[in-house]
Amino acid sequence: MMKTGYIYHPDMLRHDTGPGHPESPQRLSTLEKKLFGASQSNQGFALTSRLEKMQSERHDRLYDAVSRIHTSTYIDALKAAVPKTDRIYLDPDTPLSPGSLLAAELAVSAGLIAVDSVMAGSIRNAFCAVRPPGHHAEAGKAMGFCLFNNIAIAAKYIQTKYHLDKVLIIDWDVHHGNGTQNAFYQDSSVFYFSSHQFPCYPGTGAKDERGEGRGEGSTENHPLPAGSGDTELLAVFEHDLSLAVSDFRPDFILISAGFDAHRDDPLASLEVTDEGFAEMTKIVCSLADTHCEGRIISFLEGGYNLDALARSVERHLGVLCGL
Ligand SMILES: [Zn+2]
Repeated sequence: MMKTGYIYHPDMLRHDTGPGHPESPQRLSTLEKKLFGASQSNQGFALTSRLEKMQSERHDRLYDAVSRIHTSTYIDALKAAVPKTDRIYLDPDTPLSPGSLLAAELAVSAGLIAVDSVMAGSIRNAFCAVRPPGHHAEAGKAMGFCLFNNIAIAAKYIQTKYHLDKVLIIDWDVHHGNGTQNAFYQDSSVFYFSSHQFPCYPGTGAKDERGEGRGEGSTENHPLPAGSGDTELLAVFEHDLSLAVSDFRPDFILISAGFDAHRDDPLASLEVTDEGFAEMTKIVCSLADTHCEGRIISFLEGGYNLDALARSVERHLGVLCGL
């Protein structure tokens, strides 16, 4: 049985957001420990035996891929802004430290490596354990903890390198992925489907944002009030997502997997449980099996309660591995 790729690099811990910042290196180190640490349960062994642990490295087409989503002005300014010591702020939430650019390059590259490996048939699907996250990053600016839009870059890479026409991006992070939506707002070949708390940061993602021009109808937003949980989310996935997917018939599915919709998350107020994330993953896997030979790559976005994040990712991976 083909395995699920788990793509990571410890240099992503070198993106130093500073004391008290919720998007901390501990998010990934806690996850690593939970999945691969010494004190594993039998269930943990069953999972890790089905994971293909892969190390991210700077991809040889990295900046070619990045430049299809981000402007050269932004890319050059970001490279020039990297401080030699300490950190600077690109927006009030988004610091840049000496190790941040390398971390962002490894995060983007993880997605490209995942695409290459799924297309080569060496893994069935993949989870990119990455930071900084990406879905708020716009073509021309960093925003909301995000430097490069990892998932948008991967979507475009699938189309340009492998000539697959239609990519579906499912974004269940508690925040709306403004950067991803905008990247493909006028593009009918990438369908953007988002569920998120509303109103909430960043303020976009209303129901009537549906794409424009040739992209009209290929953006679908499901804003949910604070307090919504598994029942509401699963209804959206079972009903609306299934309808959208059977209409769109994707060649590849990408997930912006933020786990900040968890009931224990400190940044927002949805009430999704570990089990809820597993159930959402099951729905996506079944749609991918039906429409695109199971091709799924999942990208870590938010998730700021360390324990809830590690547990939820473990459940998410369990489903991706077919456990
Ligand atoms: Zn988020």
